[in-house]
Amino acid sequence: MFFSDFSGKQSSSKASSIPTIFYEVVPYSSRTRIAELMRTVDHLIIGGGVIGASIAYHLAVRGETNVLVIDVGKEPGAGSTSKATGGFRCQFGTEIGVKLSLLAREKLLHFEDELGIDPGYRPCGYLFVSKNEHQMSILRSAKEIQQKAGLRNVREVSPDDITQHNPAVSLDGVIGGTFCPIDGFIKPMNILKGYMEGAKQLGAQFEFGTQCSGFSMEERGASTRVNHVRTSKEAYRIGSVVNAAGAWAAVVGRMAGIALPITPAKRQVAVSYPTNLLPEDMPMTIFTEDSFHFRARDGRVLLLLPVDYQTRDPFDTTFEEWWIEKVKARAKECVPKFASLAIDRANCVAGLYEMSPDRHQLLGRAPGFENFYLANGSSGHGVMHSPSLGQLLAEEILDGRTTSLDTTPLRPSRLAEGKPNPVMEFL
Ligand SMILES: Cc1cc2nc3c(=O)[nH]c(=O)nc-3n(C[C@H](O)[C@H](O)[C@H](O)COP(=O)(O)OP(=O)(O)OC[C@H]3O[C@@H](n4cnc5c(N)ncnc54)[C@H](O)[C@@H]3O)c2cc1C
Repeated sequence: MFFSDFSGKQSSSKASSIPTIFYEVVPYSSRTRIAELMRTVDHLIIGGGVIGASIAYHLAVRGETNVLVIDVGKEPGAGSTSKATGGFRCQFGTEIGVKLSLLAREKLLHFEDELGIDPGYRPCGYLFVSKNEHQMSILRSAKEIQQKAGLRNVREVSPDDITQHNPAVSLDGVIGGTFCPIDGFIKPMNILKGYMEGAKQLGAQFEFGTQCSGFSMEERGASTRVNHVRTSKEAYRIGSVVNAAGAWAAVVGRMAGIALPITPAKRQVAVSYPTNLLPEDMPMTIFTEDSFHFRARDGRVLLLLPVDYQTRDPFDTTFEEWWIEKVKARAKECVPKFASLAIDRANCVAGLYEMSPDRHQLLGRAPGFENFYLANGSSGHGVMHSPSLGQLLAEEILDGRTTSLDTTPLRPSRLAEGKPNPVMEFL
């Protein structure tokens, strides 16, 4: 197999566009034939989750229909997208976070007309509940930032208001919070399917059960160009390549010699048996002290409490049984009537967030590369931001810059420049 010693390292030959590997193992007469046989893909996207699908769709809508999305999973959503609880919020602690949500909301409002599938956007609100002044001051600072970014719907709420929005919450120790009525819920798999089917109708292709396993690259002056992408099935000559590999982005980056600071973080969801303890339109309710949050979905209650699982394998998604008692105890403190909530173990979920050091995306061309693009590090907000991220990355690839929004705060070089975005706890 002529790719057997494919190293993924940069070619030492600056003059040639033919990767080193051909020189090493293929006689010259065969090289042209192999290159001719290799399929050319204008844009190859690694990762067919909601972000990869959104990028494919937005490229195709711009007329770029020779797009191939590959995913090692056997079916759509095998990564984190199918695990997401479906929260959508505009309440973020930086302008860029808010703007990504506002743009995404506009797109979600037109999603069904455009793509024929209901993205499930229901503006039931997000209710932040706080028990201390420090966290209230964070919510107030965030509110100012949100207003500057164009989000004027967020209101500070009193304990009485909290009862109005969610009568189930215990007010024990609660001093206030914030509520945003245009936050709410979405259906992650509907958004993924909408973008995937929309992209396919325009000519893009999706291949599941196909793993990216390396690249051949060439130095061109100060920058590097990726010429070919190797997969578990075949190799492709490419125009551009996008890393949309979610929690696995750093593994894909490493194959190209890029050290991406994206780390997986396990997150679990406890799902109750069907119950009428909470109405479906109750807002997502989040306690700022430890980010315990809950919602109702499809007649069940979903409980989430982030903890550090200390797994030996950072990509491990085995469900940790001990956590159920912990989250149930916390749920009972926050919502007394959850004392009777029974958890349906078979429907509980464990998945991975894709954390970046400042909890913001790395979006754009990889530093030092001509045609290697990143859409990584959504840090647990990737579904809600996927409509924006797809549109923005398509602009970056096709126009050389984003035009819908200024994405300078998301430039992949910011961390190396020592200019991370500010991180606000629990936002
Ligand atoms: C429990 C939980 C709850 C969440 N709740 C929310 C929420 O309420 N709202 C929200 O917005 N977000 C939520 N998230 C986060 C959200 O799921 C992610 O941010 C989002 O799915 C990221 O999308 P993606 O397309 O980048 O990643 P993924 O869906 O993980 O897709 C990446 C794909 O890349 C593929 N891949 C990896 N390596 C390779 C390779 N070498 N070759 C080919 N393919 C490869 C994987 O198979 C995977 O399918 C939640 C996540 C979890 C775990």
